[in-house]
Amino acid sequence: MRSLNNCLACGSQEMSVVYEATYTGPADGAGEYFLNHRRKVARGRIVRCKQCRFLFTNPQFTADEYQQIYALAAREAPAQDPMQVAENLRFDRLASLVQKHAGRPDRLLDLGCGDGQFLTQVQAQEKVGYEVGGLTERIASGIKFMFGDFIADAGKAQLTDRSFSVVTAWDVLEHLPDLDRYIDAVSRLLVPGGLMFVTIPDADSFIARISGSRWNMLLLEHLWFFNRDNFERFMKHRGFTKVEDGPIPFAVSIAHLANRFSQTYGVDVRWFLKPFEKFVVSVPIGLIYAVYRRT
Ligand SMILES: [Zn+2]
Repeated sequence: MRSLNNCLACGSQEMSVVYEATYTGPADGAGEYFLNHRRKVARGRIVRCKQCRFLFTNPQFTADEYQQIYALAAREAPAQDPMQVAENLRFDRLASLVQKHAGRPDRLLDLGCGDGQFLTQVQAQEKVGYEVGGLTERIASGIKFMFGDFIADAGKAQLTDRSFSVVTAWDVLEHLPDLDRYIDAVSRLLVPGGLMFVTIPDADSFIARISGSRWNMLLLEHLWFFNRDNFERFMKHRGFTKVEDGPIPFAVSIAHLANRFSQTYGVDVRWFLKPFEKFVVSVPIGLIYAVYRRT
């Protein structure tokens, strides 16, 4: 574990505990509380910066420990068919957002690309997907997939400085232990005037405020909970200016909702919702999208 002494957004050392941890075990037991197949919802200790209200998990596991946890959690993840329709809808919405601001960009990098679904739905002349994992590369349906350590790989070979006009990171930043270094690496990869698109949890969203400690984003794998103001401050400090931000709903299947309900409240409603499990709904879960320009 490592304790953070400074706020990532404003640098202040003054912070107070907002919610105590519901998981205090070691890293090698944390895998079963990560990602969609988690046994139960759990979180680390959540603190708030007294200066800028930035909410974050503190202490955190080390970057190496997170890498091990993800490697384990990803291996255990079952295939979930009903998720696919929801994911297509979600990525169509995000692809339209990219198109609105960047048209059909020359070179687009999707950070945390997963299986590359978003890249198949977005328009760009050249598409690169990056995911953590072993040092390999593969090309499928015109998309170049890269796996490795992003911070170490940025600036090399296929990820040359000032070569991308768009970088996207959907629901990714809140997972990254070295977030400031990731954003610096993205900044170097973008052409001047290039755009970064993200979706992140918004700690000041309506759902976050009414849900308190039960907010669905307070998960063991989530480390950072910005609001629009302290995210702007954080990005400005790293050479980005805000183009646009706003709330965005999350498309999910009823099966996924039922699953999360069971994980949160310990009541299994999956049998009851079984006939509707393939239906997809858009729910406000306290997520924002943001578009930033590298200056
Ligand atoms: Zn702060």
